[in-house]
Amino acid sequence: MRGSIFEYLERYDYENLVLCQDRSVGLKAIIALHDTTLGPATGGTRMWTYDSELDAIEDALRLARGMTYKYAAAGVNLGGGKCVIIGDPKTDKSEALFRSLGRFIDRLNGAYLTGEDVGTTLRDMEYLRMETPYVVTLPASWGGAGPIAPATAFGVLQGMRACLQEVFGSDSLQGRSVALQGLGAVGSEMLALLVEQGARVVVSDIDADKVRQAVERYGVAAVAPEEIHAQEVDVFCPCALGGILNDTTLPQLRCKIVAGSANNQLREERHGEQIEELGIVYAPDYVINAGGTIFDTDRLNPGGFNRERAMTNVSRIRETMASLLKIRRDEGIPTYRAADLLAERRIAAVRAAKALDARPRVGVADIWRHQ
Ligand code: NAD
Repeated sequence: MRGSIFEYLERYDYENLVLCQDRSVGLKAIIALHDTTLGPATGGTRMWTYDSELDAIEDALRLARGMTYKYAAAGVNLGGGKCVIIGDPKTDKSEALFRSLGRFIDRLNGAYLTGEDVGTTLRDMEYLRMETPYVVTLPASWGGAGPIAPATAFGVLQGMRACLQEVFGSDSLQGRSVALQGLGAVGSEMLALLVEQGARVVVSDIDADKVRQAVERYGVAAVAPEEIHAQEVDVFCPCALGGILNDTTLPQLRCKIVAGSANNQLREERHGEQIEELGIVYAPDYVINAGGTIFDTDRLNPGGFNRERAMTNVSRIRETMASLLKIRRDEGIPTYRAADLLAERRIAAVRAAKALDARPRVGVADIWRHQ
């Protein structure tokens, strides 16, 4: 971040930036609230050893804005927020530190809702919850939704179906070939779903044990980690790390669709243009991997967590993906931009409706009084 913080806040229209300091427990944290048109600013708490305070502020702001888009595109009524703690998650954590942060979050009175993220765990969320009710991601025993990876994988499958429909005129996975990168929490669920749907799957992971187990259990093929993206398949499904779509991998892709859970798949925005030029349908990561978030935040809806409602909403990722593909077709816009547009249009529509609601109303009694 260069120049003034207020310039940066103005450029992307942030609402709030909160600095939290408690020297008695060594807490230095930043809470960024981007846009609360759709609902309270929501996003996980990250703990990281930042090179500078400005780096930490920039990360909180960038991630909060990302959450605004993610919720808006997913049809969830939440705004974008993020909290970052400056510190080493391996050495600097304590109950007191998280409880202190919990009290800061509590002061915001529900304007910011948190959960776990890189460097924080469900255990840390329990400490926050001791001080504030504004914690979404919690263990099932604390009233949370529990593991979210199955819902994430189910959502990816729905998005993949919309892409298959677009490319092949059928959403069936029967006989379709899929290259699956990563067999972790989401990838292993993905594998089970794909095999169940009759897809021919080739897998890869840097963890040889996970590959061996997948091959033994499902009889799928396996290739070396550096070869998985270059398989000649219908779908490449990245479920490992970010940045997989880059200058090196893009010319090697031999698939028709990229649809997977990994966050930040495009190393740079221009790679979103390039993948379009290659004629490959790309399912924007933050849309297709929103299933876990939709599932997790269902407990904020009326009546608390309802698994059936949560999974119905996750299945709507298919409709969202279909809308993006329509924008791509009708307006000639690459899918990664179409996702941003969809999010921006939803926020603008809700903002306009709210403005209409906020107009002063003249009741019948007032009319009589003025007669
Ligand atoms: P995970 O850590 O459980 O699994 C990642 C897997 O990828 C591991 O098995 C790891 O060994 C493997 N891997 C790492 N580098 C690899 C490489 N070069 N080639 C092949 N395999 C490699 O993580 P996860 O929770 O399954 O998440 C996977 C991705 O999806 C991440 O990018 C994550 O940010 C994203 N995501 C996850 C969720 C969720 O519900 N867990 C939700 C949204 C997005």
